[in-house]
Amino acid sequence: MFDHHCPTCAARVLVFPSQVSAMTHTEDGIELSFTCWCGSEQTQLMNPARSEARGGSRRRTPVAA
Ligand SMILES: [Zn+2]
Repeated sequence: MFDHHCPTCAARVLVFPSQVSAMTHTEDGIELSFTCWCGSEQTQLMNPARSEARGGSRRRTPVAA
């Protein structure tokens, strides 16, 4: 689930996995194609840098006692 600004709705909407119709790997990351609540086809680029940062913060660093 992620949020997206739909130009047709002119609002931020929540998009659920069941609305996603396609995932395309691009040079900039993964582009999701989905159908908004209003029925319009939308795309959103998922930023891979964000998930890398999340993974990095989850990594445990040994602390010298
Ligand atoms: Zn919409």
